[in-house]
Amino acid sequence: MSDETKTYLPAGMPAPEATRDGLDREFWDAAKRHELVVQKCNSCGTFQFAPEWICHKCHSLDVGWHRVSGRGRIYS
Ligand SMILES: [Zn+2]
Repeated sequence: MSDETKTYLPAGMPAPEATRDGLDREFWDAAKRHELVVQKCNSCGTFQFAPEWICHKCHSLDVGWHRVSGRGRIYS
């Protein structure tokens, strides 16, 4: 089994993959490199997750991906 096909999921469950529309492709490509990336608006600097085509704060379409450390707090 290569590194790209290893998964923490039980046997028989499919590994997660990018959606067909490509919205989250950068996220999954980074995950394969063992990196964590999050969308960040290039207009207002706001981070957002899950990925969207538009910034939640300022509605700009200019959103990019930025590598992050993975350290932080989770709010739900
Ligand atoms: Zn924004």
